[in-house]
Amino acid sequence: MAETAGILKVDRVAAVYAGAIAALHGVDLTVAPGEIVALLGSNGAGKSTLLKAVSNLLPAERGAVTEGRILFEGQDVATLAPAALARRGLVTVLEGRHCFRSLTVEENLLTGALGRSSTRAETKADLERVYALFPRLAEKRRTTSGLISGGEQQMTAIGRGLMSRPRLFVLDEPSMGLAPLVVREIFLTLKRLNREDGLSILVAEQNSAVALDYADRAVVVENGVSKLSGPAAELRQRADIKDFYLGGETTSIRNTDPAPKEEAFA
Ligand code: ATP
Repeated sequence: MAETAGILKVDRVAAVYAGAIAALHGVDLTVAPGEIVALLGSNGAGKSTLLKAVSNLLPAERGAVTEGRILFEGQDVATLAPAALARRGLVTVLEGRHCFRSLTVEENLLTGALGRSSTRAETKADLERVYALFPRLAEKRRTTSGLISGGEQQMTAIGRGLMSRPRLFVLDEPSMGLAPLVVREIFLTLKRLNREDGLSILVAEQNSAVALDYADRAVVVENGVSKLSGPAAELRQRADIKDFYLGGETTSIRNTDPAPKEEAFA
C-alpha cells in the first residue's frame, strides 16, 4: 500500500541485537521529499541502529526491527534487500568513510555505479558531476584510496553513494574525525545537492552544531527513543539542546510535556 506522507516514514520502531540487546524503543521520524533531516543524539543513543534499520542492514549484524515499520516511498523496507533499496534510490553511506583502500579514487567511485543498468555515457556524466562537486577527488582520481586524507576518503565514500543516484541519501556521521573546514565543505556539498537536485537527506550526527546549520529539521534520539523534533532553526535556539548537544554542560533534555514521547515544534 502506498503511503506518501514522506519519502521516508519511521513509525514507532523498536530494534534489538542478538535477540536481546535493545537498542531502539520507539523512534518516529519522517523525511519529506527534498528535505534534509538531521538525526541527533549522543554516543550510543541509537542513531546508527536506526540508519541500519532504514537501509535493512540490521540482519547483517544479528539485529532486527521488532516493532513498528519503516516505509520508503510507501514500501516496507523490510521487504527489500539493501541492494534492492539502493537500486530504488535509498542509498546509505555508513559510518567510517568506507573505501576500498587498494582501489583508486575513480575505481571506488565506479563501484557505486555497478548496481545500476546505466550506459557508459551516463556513468561518465555522473563521474564528472562527482568531480565537479568534489574537485579534490578529480585531482586524486588515480591515487590509491588508502593514501588519501580522511576528508578525501569521506568524499570518496559520499561520491560512490552519489554514483548510485540516490533519491534519499542516508549518511552516518560524515563529520567523524575530520577537520572543521572539511566538515563544512562536505555539508555545503550536501546542501548544494539538496538545492540543485532536490535530493532528500537523512544525516546522523553527533556534531549537532554543524548538522543544525544545514538541516531543515532535526530529530533528537536519546536512549533509543525520539525525544524531540522540530525545525533546525528552532532547535538551534534551545538552551537545553545547546547544553546537551552543542558542547555545554551535561544536562538531560528537559522535555516540558511528559505525556507525548515526542515533542513537535512544527
Ligand atoms: P555512536 O555515535 O557511538 O555510533 P549511536 O547513536 O549511533 O552511537 P548505536 O551505535 O546505534 O548508537 O548504538 C545503540 C545501542 O546499541 C548501544 O547501546 C550499542 O552498544 C548497541 N549496539 C550497537 N551495535 C550493536 C551490535 N552490533 N551488537 C550489539 N549491540 C549493539
